[in-house]
Amino acid sequence: GPKWSLNGMTALVTGGSKGIGRAIVEELAGLGARVHTCARNEKELGDRLQEWKSKGFDVSGSVCDLSSSSERIKLVLETVASAFDGKLNILVNNAGIGVFKKCLDWSPEDYSSVMATNLVAPFHLCQLAHPLLKASGRGSIVFISSTAGLLAIPFVSGYATTKALGWHICMFEYAAGINQLTKNLACEWAKDNIRTNSVAPGGTNTPLTKVSGKKEQCCVSIMSRVPAERMAEPDEISSVVAFLCMPAASYISGQVIAVDGGYSVCGF
Ligand code: NDP
Repeated sequence: GPKWSLNGMTALVTGGSKGIGRAIVEELAGLGARVHTCARNEKELGDRLQEWKSKGFDVSGSVCDLSSSSERIKLVLETVASAFDGKLNILVNNAGIGVFKKCLDWSPEDYSSVMATNLVAPFHLCQLAHPLLKASGRGSIVFISSTAGLLAIPFVSGYATTKALGWHICMFEYAAGINQLTKNLACEWAKDNIRTNSVAPGGTNTPLTKVSGKKEQCCVSIMSRVPAERMAEPDEISSVVAFLCMPAASYISGQVIAVDGGYSVCGF
């Protein structure tokens, strides 16, 4: 097929009802892919599916809580396998949650829900999707990781006046895990014609970063160190994801690509 197109390809994008996942669904569908997505909130997902239908995008969706193993199995082995005839070109592991607390305030439940959603689920989805990706003859996995898997980001407001309300996100090990998994799968599954890459966004304007109305503080603390001096928009992340899935990227595998306005390389 053509180098710069996703025509005729099939894709599973997790967490497509809002934020970065929504932009990825729209980007892939706009480039010709047939997309399936999932989320927990039925109403939000339903609203999106209506919108996409009216725009002429070929997108289906199902409610699924990815922190549950049985729901992951149902999603891939039943829903996606039957929708796409047992063949999948693209798996985008996007769905993720954040816990906005200082390290010492994390409960064991916080930790296990973040790990289940952000690390265990992507790993298991890759295992489940492997036969479908292989059957497609040309598979591509993209993880949405985080710049926080590349360097320590406390997200603490640097300003004395707002310090008491400072924004904290700790425990980013899952992102480091995802980055390593990217490299391992790239090597292990190359023989099956499956490429694996990660996109590591910096701070991006999504519902996730609007939690608790603390977005402004987050902006202030991290933006002081972002050369681009602004947050990313979701469609600046989705364009890189789409590129990685195209034949144009056929020799790129095992890479973690930061899309962060230069944040991860800024030493001053
Ligand atoms: P949002 O909270 O805006 O969207 C998350 C999406 O994932 C929603 O569709 C949500 O739907 C879905 N989702 C969350 N948990 C589950 C679950 N257990 N099962 C199924 N679907 C789920 O987040 P973002 O768009 O900001 O983030 C997307 C990814 O990008 C995440 O992995 C995040 O860690 C990463 N990222 C984001 C950054 C940012 O600044 N925004 C920076 C770096 C990385 P529902 O709630 O209905 O389940």
